[in-house]
Amino acid sequence: AEAALLQAQKVQAVGQLAGGIAHDFNNVLQAVLGGTSLIRRRAGDTAAIRRLTDMVEEAARRGESITRRLLAFSRREELRATTLDIEQLLGGLRDVLAATLGGRIRVVAEVTPGLPPVLADRSQFETVLLNLATNARDAMPEGGTLTLCAEASRIGPDSTVAGLAPGDYVHLVVADTGEGMDAATLAQATEPFFTTKPLGQGTGLGLAMASSFAQGSGGALALDSEPGRGTRVSLWLPATRLEGEAVTETPLGSQSAAS
Ligand code: ADP
Repeated sequence: AEAALLQAQKVQAVGQLAGGIAHDFNNVLQAVLGGTSLIRRRAGDTAAIRRLTDMVEEAARRGESITRRLLAFSRREELRATTLDIEQLLGGLRDVLAATLGGRIRVVAEVTPGLPPVLADRSQFETVLLNLATNARDAMPEGGTLTLCAEASRIGPDSTVAGLAPGDYVHLVVADTGEGMDAATLAQATEPFFTTKPLGQGTGLGLAMASSFAQGSGGALALDSEPGRGTRVSLWLPATRLEGEAVTETPLGSQSAAS
């Protein structure tokens, strides 16, 4: 649990650091942009100078768009936990998941009907699922199967599953039949900025975010992977009985049906 807390703090620190750098760097770019506009005004209308100032300005604008993206990533967006029906959430993501995965990957969904709702931030949850789907796609360039399972899971007092506190959870599994990970990769996979993907393709933040999402919601994340056999990402999220705005009717007794 201590390692989990450390991990969540790391992700937050990295976000803050990125945001601070982006903010300062943006000020530098504003100075450059102000300068180019002054040069243009003072230097008169020679074509050569206009071309050069256009170049500088265009580069600074590109920098501005990078800092904007960084700021958007690091902004501590207000997280709002509502009660979510996982079956409904997955149903709502079906099209965007299919688009993310492309035509060569088969999707199998096995969701136990009448699952208890979970308390989590919807948009963070959706981002996490899309990140996991993107990882699965990248691991299956020749195609394969992505399995999404959700079932109720009761963690007893003697259980040691992922360091979870005893209680009722929804256990969500995202499994692929892709290339898998060797032990060294697996050990570092949830570290912020750890990536084995080529520059520009991976941020190394997908699993770090997924793990901090699970912990922040009172649950846990576990990885299971073997080279050549595929990867299983397990997310446990605490089940809740609280009623909330995003909830759909949950049949009474579904909690006791949990195994
Ligand atoms: P990114 O996908 O940007 O690299 P992640 O944090 O999501 O960042 O993943 C970190 C690394 O873990 C990946 O670069 C890859 O090596 C490995 N990984 C993650 N998911 C999978 C998967 N489903 N199959 C195989 N390897 C994976």
